[in-house]
Amino acid sequence: MKKLSLIVFFACLALGCSSKPKVKYVFYFIGDGMGINQVMATEQYNKATGNGPDVINFTQFPVRNFITTVSGNSVVTDSAAGGTALASGVKTYNSAVGVDLDGNPVSCITEWASEAGYGTGIITTVGINHATPACFISHTSVRGNYEDISTQFMSAPVDFAAGAGFIMNRRTERTPEYYEKMAEDSGITILRGPEFDGVEDIDGRVLCLSGKQQENLSCAIDRKEGDTQLSDFVKAGIAYLEKHFGKKGFFVMIEGGMIDWACHGTDAATAFQELTDMAYSVDIALEFLNRHPKETLIVITADHETGGLMIGSGKYETHPERLAFQKASAPVITDMFREEFFPEEEPYETPSWEDVKEFFADKLGLWDKVDVSSKDEAALKEVYNKTFGKGGNRNLSSENLYSVNYKIVDEAVKCLDRAAGYRFSYGSHSGSPVGLYVTGAGHEAFREVRDNAEIAPLIAKLAGYRK
Ligand SMILES: [Zn+2]
Repeated sequence: MKKLSLIVFFACLALGCSSKPKVKYVFYFIGDGMGINQVMATEQYNKATGNGPDVINFTQFPVRNFITTVSGNSVVTDSAAGGTALASGVKTYNSAVGVDLDGNPVSCITEWASEAGYGTGIITTVGINHATPACFISHTSVRGNYEDISTQFMSAPVDFAAGAGFIMNRRTERTPEYYEKMAEDSGITILRGPEFDGVEDIDGRVLCLSGKQQENLSCAIDRKEGDTQLSDFVKAGIAYLEKHFGKKGFFVMIEGGMIDWACHGTDAATAFQELTDMAYSVDIALEFLNRHPKETLIVITADHETGGLMIGSGKYETHPERLAFQKASAPVITDMFREEFFPEEEPYETPSWEDVKEFFADKLGLWDKVDVSSKDEAALKEVYNKTFGKGGNRNLSSENLYSVNYKIVDEAVKCLDRAAGYRFSYGSHSGSPVGLYVTGAGHEAFREVRDNAEIAPLIAKLAGYRK
């Protein structure tokens, strides 16, 4: 026995191998609201519609685990408590950003990496000060303290940051431009998308923003030429971090933030396209891993599941191909509905039920390409009557966390989801476990992970940020 281990020891010495993986480059992806069913349904959608790969790349990673997401005060976490657990390894109350149950600041992985001399990056499809990225750049008692989070960003140890823009509270008089100026005054260079050529040549901190003033990037399903997308940010981030920190190494967090927003809006096709979009950015990280196979770690997870997505809605079948007829997200269809039926000049002509049916046939394929059950049609007609009937409210809306859509549009999207065999239980988070997908240097260690609070300390240990 002794002899054998000696032989292994010398063989390792001769081959230069070591039992400890040397993790230099870390990619930490967070699909906000990305439950296990969202991933599986996206594969079904892509296969049926040709929207994207029918095997989502990270489902093939050597570690495919699942983890619990409970927060410090609830079985159902919000993005802030989920983000704090993922960034700091600490359980806290819902709405808390980078503070513990008593409200004391807790350090996070961005700070650990930076203190150890590594480059750091934070990338998101939503506002740079929104809950998930906020947990990697700030510490505050309530996630809605957008001004406080924005101010803390100015001195946060983040070399490269990218997001749609700064989100502002409705009650504030401050504007995103105010914080952009504050960033420039702090020595941060701001670049605007969709292209970030030459980003790697900039010295000092960089903030990449969307090409237009936005709180979130355009959804993949709505995207037009010239719109900034997540992959633009990821390519820029890698170019910058590799040039400046290629020797030492870097840590980058990348959030697909609008999977959650679409699930809050119970909008299946929009969610599946967002998830596919994040997978395209995972491809970019995989290309990097292929160039640095022994030193790159890619970790992918979610902060929670959103919507209680069911696959199959009463029948033992699904028809994801029917979702191909959806041409835009529910908020954009709401804008189209407003333009079509509520001209700015009053009085407007009340659209007939036939007019409304024609609109949804065009935007969602209902009746025209997809059969609508009599029960669904009756439900939709009822909303039509409440909107356009005698004494109706033409602004009849349904509000979710991130958008206010016409109720009739939301109902029509739900009709299509049901016809396709996908149903959201409700428009908020669930306590379901989520996936943990890991590949690259040190991936084996993630087989033992059972909870979201274990991830950041484990990455930090493997990469040498902390012991
Ligand atoms: Zn979330």
